[in-house]
Amino acid sequence: MIIQPKIRGFICTTAHPDGCARAVQDQIDWVRARPAFSGPEKVLVVGASTGYGLASRIAASFGAGAATLGAFFERPAEGRRTATAGWYNSAAFEAAARAAGHYARSINGDAFSDEIKTQTIEAIRADLGQIDLVVYSLASPRRTHPSTGESFSSVLKPIGQTYSNKTVNVQSGEVTDIDIEPASDEEIAGTEAVMGGEDWELWIRALDEAGVLADGVRTVAYTYIGPAITHPVYRDGTIGRAKNHLEKTGLALNEYLQARNGSAHVSTNKAMVTQSSAAIPVVPLYISLLYKVMKEKDCHENCIQQMHRLFTDRLYADAPVPVDDQGRIRIDDWEMRDDVQEAVAALWAQVTTENLEAISDIAGYRDEFLNLFGFGLAGIDYEVEVDPERGLG
Ligand code: NAD
Repeated sequence: MIIQPKIRGFICTTAHPDGCARAVQDQIDWVRARPAFSGPEKVLVVGASTGYGLASRIAASFGAGAATLGAFFERPAEGRRTATAGWYNSAAFEAAARAAGHYARSINGDAFSDEIKTQTIEAIRADLGQIDLVVYSLASPRRTHPSTGESFSSVLKPIGQTYSNKTVNVQSGEVTDIDIEPASDEEIAGTEAVMGGEDWELWIRALDEAGVLADGVRTVAYTYIGPAITHPVYRDGTIGRAKNHLEKTGLALNEYLQARNGSAHVSTNKAMVTQSSAAIPVVPLYISLLYKVMKEKDCHENCIQQMHRLFTDRLYADAPVPVDDQGRIRIDDWEMRDDVQEAVAALWAQVTTENLEAISDIAGYRDEFLNLFGFGLAGIDYEVEVDPERGLG
């Protein structure tokens, strides 16, 4: 079939298998063009199919030669319905890793469940014995609690008061004012249950109790801080509450893993165009301005560049891992540079529908958004019939 993008709001309901494979290969090639580094050897990535988790898996596998086990929740193709981008990414990653002689296995299913944790532990026992790095990179709109069966939803809302600011319709380029009503107590608690640290802790405890964590094991999860303009809807909003919980969990896990001579970290990553960040109001406009500034200042990074720098300059740099006063790794350091933030704030004050194309990198945002689903990649002929089926494993 011929596969074209079908964009509905902030998601694209189709994905292109060859385009996704191209995008994965581009990340692999970028890593391979750099010196190999030593660090992780046997790695579990939870949330390994897109965004930061996929980039972490690629950096570990092709940068450090690690064996990787990836857990994610993706959908295969069915009839004339394409698979999800994460499915195609993972199929392409597995094939490339194996061709390069690196172990790669994937587990598709709900990582919040006990069943997927058990399956993962069995796979580690069977194939790897023990693992020395656990990357936790889940982003999900909902979670069913494994013990109570209760379902929680995560929302992206301010807390306490209505937040009003500019936002952009990425496809039409219309810049409008948006009012976001504050979250209820139930929504705050739900977001924390989905995106906080409870499931990360359940993973680490389950892996530890099963005896599959190696001496010196490390674990890392990802957080975001961002600038004052997005604080009401991000850092001081429902998702920020969840991130506070995740960060507190990181400190507790760091204590817990001392018994294994291990450590837990939370890394503060840069704002990135991913399926998850596209869903946050206000953030795509901020990213469009941020990318414009960072590209002009020659300090822009994409997902793979961020994760490669996290591994080589922070986690495995042969020195104590540098952290801020709250124990977080800061790989968002270039995004948060004063000169970058001052330039973004100046653009934010001016941006309108009329000047959006000129003063922001909305064009780059749209390209990257399409790339997430395997569209708009060089060397792919999108007019050619393609088989949507791709196998995993
Ligand atoms: P993403 O949407 O690209 O990836 C999410 C991953 O989670 C996918 O692999 C998906 O399959 C998996 N997943 C979702 N629900 C699942 C489930 N129930 N079971 C198994 N797997 C499931 O997201 P991302 O933007 O890369 O975010 C990853 C982490 O990085 C999140 O914690 C996010 O808050 C954080 N982060 C993101 C940004 C950003 O700007 N994108 C910035 C800083 C930190």
